Amino acid sequence: MSQPTLSTAASRYQPPHIAGSSEGLSHAQSELLERAAELGRTCFAPRAARHDREASFPVENFDDLRQAGLLALCVPASHGGLEAAFATYALVVAELGRHCAATALCFSMHACACMGAGLIADQLDMSSAERAEHERHRTLHFERIVRHGKVYAQPFSEGGAAAAGKAPWTTTARKVEGGYRIDGRKIFASLSGAADCYGVLCTLQRPGATLRDTLYLAVPAEAPGLEVCGDWDPLGMRGTVSRNLLLKDVFVPDSARLLPEGLYHQAAQRFPHIFTTLSPTYMGIAQAAYDFSVMYLRAELPGMSPVKRRMYPTKQAAVAEMRIKLEQTRALFLQCVREAGIDPDDGARQRLYAAHYTVMENAHAVCALALRTCGGQALLKSLPLERLFRDSRCGSLMLPWTAELCLDRLGRECLYAGAEGDERIE
Ligand SMILES: Cc1cc2nc3c(=O)[nH]c(=O)nc-3n(C[C@H](O)[C@H](O)[C@H](O)COP(=O)(O)OP(=O)(O)OC[C@H]3O[C@@H](n4cnc5c(N)ncnc54)[C@H](O)[C@@H]3O)c2cc1C
Repeated sequence: MSQPTLSTAASRYQPPHIAGSSEGLSHAQSELLERAAELGRTCFAPRAARHDREASFPVENFDDLRQAGLLALCVPASHGGLEAAFATYALVVAELGRHCAATALCFSMHACACMGAGLIADQLDMSSAERAEHERHRTLHFERIVRHGKVYAQPFSEGGAAAAGKAPWTTTARKVEGGYRIDGRKIFASLSGAADCYGVLCTLQRPGATLRDTLYLAVPAEAPGLEVCGDWDPLGMRGTVSRNLLLKDVFVPDSARLLPEGLYHQAAQRFPHIFTTLSPTYMGIAQAAYDFSVMYLRAELPGMSPVKRRMYPTKQAAVAEMRIKLEQTRALFLQCVREAGIDPDDGARQRLYAAHYTVMENAHAVCALALRTCGGQALLKSLPLERLFRDSRCGSLMLPWTAELCLDRLGRECLYAGAEGDERIE
């Protein structure tokens, strides 16, 4: 079953720019966004329904991303990459998310691994020996990506408190001669069976280990002891194929470190934007649901009967409400991705929770409004809206910053400065 792509020559509605307008974007940003839009429209959107139905990984989409040079989006220029700034990364992923959300989400995980070892690592405090060693290690990883087109996943979740940042990872790394031996289990590993390398977070085994001992290791897919297991038949984001990973005494060399020992904790504390790298996909979903609704009500979706519905005041009010939510979401999203950087002040940190929460919750709210407004035919699997609705539901429950945890953290941080506490009330 193939679904209509949204923008056609016959349609007078031209879906807008993902940044609202191209004004203020650099030439390089505009060019990258055009590349992503072209791939999304012509290749990813037509394939999305099949991967959703089959819950299969969009291998061809990653071939296209590789061909277009986008796998190197977040690799530093000194290593042959495109060295995208955080905002550029976010806009490219949002654009991809308009066309195939599962592809965008998986791509964001690959790009995030590159960002961790690249842009973020460059801003962390390291000794000169650590920096030199990191440079040697990341040269190997970036070479795999840039020259050999390898894809990295980021399986962090374990089903316990670690993914919420509340306890050390139960997956452990034991230091041995020349490397580490890893044991543990990861759940919801997007790109499982498709990635060439899994960027695993684990706890370096030592007495009294804490979150500070988190280690970020790249495990090659073919490493002995690594196994993909479990079923995959979820409500949404079905193309991500997020099965479980079992790691039994898996050996990786020292060069598997995507960050030096102890540095992941520093990155998590000082660069909180790292936790919002999943939200751009959902910004794209919100835009796609809005675009769909406008075209549906104007009767401009290819293959549909030419019955317009735009003249009814209830439809106009609903579209206005969707547009308001969309623009509120975009405004906060753009502000936060543009101010990404090391050591944000309290205001920027709190805005970041607000932005992440807003994108994740509003993406689903816009999809729900779109379904109610477009009506019964839009529920059919021959149209993309019902998939957008299901995919959008996944955003606000993705750790570490689920909607619930954003509220928890934001409420606390708004009311308590730094290490402030309360006097005991007897
Ligand atoms: C499509 C999809 C793809 C995914 N891909 C990846 C991936 O590639 N890599 C990866 O690491 N993870 C991935 N995840 C996993 C995701 O980030 C979550 O870890 C997972 O959904 C948590 O499921 P759970 O039932 O174990 O949640 P639980 O840990 O049981 O949490 C359930 C809810 O309780 C709340 N909660 C959890 N802990 C606390 C706490 N300490 N205090 C207060 N409230 C809390 C949260 O709001 C959470 O939503 C993916 C998830 C989905 C849906």
